[in-house]
Amino acid sequence: MNEKYKILFDPIKIGPVTSKNRFYQVPHCTGMGWQRPNMLASMREVKAEGGWGVVNTEYCSIHPSSDDLPHSYASLWDKSDIKAHHKMTSKVHNHGALAGVELWYSGANASSQFTRLAPLDVNSRPNLKGLPFQSRKMDKQDFSDLRRWFKQAAIRAREAEFDIIYAYANHSYLLHNFQKSDINDRNDAYGGDTKGRSKFIKEIIEILKEEAGSQMGVAIRFSPDEDNQNDPNETLDFFNEISEMPDLWDLTPSNWDIELGSSRFTDEGDNLKFINHIKKITTKPVVAVGRFTSVDAMVNIIKKEFVDIIGAARPSIADPFLPKKIEEDRIEDIRECIGCNICYTGDQLGVPIRCTQNPTMGEEWRRGWHPEILPPKKTNDSILVIGCGPSGLEAAHSLGKRDFTVLAAEAKKITGGRVVSESNLPSLNAWIRVKDYREQQFLKLPNVNIFLNSKMNVKDILDSEVEHVVFATGSKWRSDGFGRSNTRPIKQLIENTNIYNPDDIMKGDLPSGNVVVFDDDYYYLAPIISEMLQKKGCDVTYVTTSSVVCEFGNYTSEQFNYQKSLINSGVKLIFSKNIVSYSNKEIKLSCMYSNKISSINTDALVMITSRLPNDSLYYQLCNEYDIRSKFKSVKRIGDCLAPATIASAIYDGRKYAMELEDEFYDNYLFNISFPISNQ
Ligand code: ADP
Ligand code: SF4
Repeated sequence: MNEKYKILFDPIKIGPVTSKNRFYQVPHCTGMGWQRPNMLASMREVKAEGGWGVVNTEYCSIHPSSDDLPHSYASLWDKSDIKAHHKMTSKVHNHGALAGVELWYSGANASSQFTRLAPLDVNSRPNLKGLPFQSRKMDKQDFSDLRRWFKQAAIRAREAEFDIIYAYANHSYLLHNFQKSDINDRNDAYGGDTKGRSKFIKEIIEILKEEAGSQMGVAIRFSPDEDNQNDPNETLDFFNEISEMPDLWDLTPSNWDIELGSSRFTDEGDNLKFINHIKKITTKPVVAVGRFTSVDAMVNIIKKEFVDIIGAARPSIADPFLPKKIEEDRIEDIRECIGCNICYTGDQLGVPIRCTQNPTMGEEWRRGWHPEILPPKKTNDSILVIGCGPSGLEAAHSLGKRDFTVLAAEAKKITGGRVVSESNLPSLNAWIRVKDYREQQFLKLPNVNIFLNSKMNVKDILDSEVEHVVFATGSKWRSDGFGRSNTRPIKQLIENTNIYNPDDIMKGDLPSGNVVVFDDDYYYLAPIISEMLQKKGCDVTYVTTSSVVCEFGNYTSEQFNYQKSLINSGVKLIFSKNIVSYSNKEIKLSCMYSNKISSINTDALVMITSRLPNDSLYYQLCNEYDIRSKFKSVKRIGDCLAPATIASAIYDGRKYAMELEDEFYDNYLFNISFPISNQ
C-alpha cells in the first residue's frame, strides 16, 4: 500500500466496536428495502468484500406508522425483519466489516400510503411530500410508545447482529423536527429552549445506548447546516447539548438537493463547508460524505481534522471495491462516480437501484453479477463491436475481462461517443469518467483491440472473420419535433432552416439572437443548452410541454436546481405548451390544457424531443445477407437498439457480454419476474 494512504486504513473505535479502516458506507437507499432482502444482502455483501469497514442499511422503519412506500425502506417491525436483516449482517461480517442500521421514524415526511397510519410528529403538520394528510401531534402516550418502539427496534437490531445502530435525526424526520424552533412549537417539556427541544433525542439516545451495551455503537445522523435567521447559533447550541452522547456523528446537510447534489451543481467535497467546524467541538468520531473519489482529498480531510472517517454512498455504489483498490495500490482501477444521481431514481421510482458507472449495482443477486469478477469464456469466439460509445466500450471491456478476443471499431478518432460530446457541455465534465475508466482498463486487456477512424460498412463486417457482431452505433437527435407530445413530425417546420438539435449544438453549431429551446425530452440537455446559449449572449426562451423544468430531475434530486438555475440565468420559461408551427420567425404554441394558441417570435429553434437509432447498417446487413451462415450472432445494444440514458447503454453493454454463450439467456427474463418476497 502507498504510505501516504495508510492513514485511511487505521482502525477506529466506534463506541464498543472497531472499524478496521476509515471507509464507511453511509446509509443509502436502494429501492430494495424490506421487500427485497436477498437482493439487498448480496449488494451490501459486495461492498464489504470490496473493503468498506462499515456497511449500513438504508433508512429502517421502527414502526408501521413510519411508512414511505412506494419509496423502499428497511424495517425492524417484527421477527421476520430480524431474519431478513440477518442475511445482510452475516454476509457483511464474513468480510470483516461492521454492519449498521439506521433506525428511522418519519413524522410528517413519510407517505403512509401502505400502512395508512397517521404518523406522529411534534405537531399536526401537512405531509411534506405533498400528500393530502397531516401528521398527528404527539401526546404523552405517544412519547411513551415511541420510546418503546425505538427500544424494541434496538433489541431486534441486536438480535439481527448489527454492530452500529443509528438515531436518524436529520432530513425533516421526527428527531430532526424536535430540534428546530421554527417547527417545534410545543409548550410542554419537549419544546421551548434548547434543553426542551433536545429532551426527546436525549431519551432516545439513552435507550439506544442501553440496548447497544457492549455489542453495538450508537450513531446519530445530524445536520449542522441549519439556517435559522432568528437564531444563527441554534443548531450549534443544540449540538453542544448532546455532543458527547453518541459514539459517532454522521454529519450531512439537511437539504437533499445539497447533500445529494449532482456533479452538475456541486463539486466533490462541497458538503464539508457545512460540517468542518464540528469535529473541534466533540471528542467523538465524525463521518461525512462528499462524493469523494480522489484518494488525496480523502487523506487531506482526515489530516486537516475535518472528519475521522470517509463516508460514501455514491462512490461506494459506483465502485464497491474502492477501498480494496486503494489498499492494493490500484488507484487507476477505481471506477469514479460521475455524480449523475441515476442511483437515486431507484428509490424515487420504487425499483431496485442502478448506477451509470457500475452496471452490476442491484444485479448482484438477481443476475449474479459481480463488479470485478466476470465468468471466463467457454469458447475461442471473437467479437466485433461496432461503435465505441458507452455501450460499445462497456461491451468490449466486459468481453475483454471474460478473455474473449474483441475487435472494437470506432468511426471517430476518439472513443466515448455521446459522453465525449456531452461532457463538453457546461458542468458535465464528470461524464467523461465513463470513457476514462474503460479506456484505462483496456491498457490491461491486450485481447481488446480498438480501431479508431474505422467507420464500418457491410463489406468490412463480412470480411471481419469474427463469430459475433454487436452494433453499438448509437443514435442521433431529431430536428422534426417527433417526440412524446408529437407522434408525427411537426409539418409546419419544413420551410425553416434555422432549426437546431443537441447534436448540432454539441458540434459547436450555435444559433444567435432570440432562441427558443423546445423541451419535450424532460431531462438535462434542454436546460443545460438553454443556460449555455443565454450565457453566450442569446435571448433564450425555454418552452416545454411539461409543467416544470427537467421533469425527470424529480427522480435524480435535480429538478429544483435546474429550474432555479434557469431562472437565475435570465432564461424565460414557458410551461405546458406544445409547438404547432414555425414559419417567418413566428412560433405558434398550443396550450397543453386548453389548446389555446399563442405565438412568440424567434430567430432560431432548438428542438430537444427524441432520437433516432443509428440502425441502418444493422438492417442492411441483416436484410441483404445470409448472416446466419456467416455469424453465430448479430445483435444491437445501447442507443442503437433503444435510445435511453448513459446508464442504460452501459448496462446493455454488460448484459450483452454476460449473456454471450449463455444457453439460459431467456431464463433471466423469467428471473426478473420472481415473486417479490424472493428478491
Ligand atoms: P451508446 O450510448 O449506445 O453507446 P453513442 O452514440 O454514445 O451510443 O456511441 C455510438 C458510437 O458509435 C459513436 O462513437 C459513433 O461514432 C460510433 N459509430 C456509429 N456508426 C459507426 C460505424 N458504422 N462504424 C464504427 N463506429 C460507428
Ligand atoms: Fe455515481 Fe451516477 Fe453511479 Fe450514482 S448512478 S453512483 S451518481 S455514477
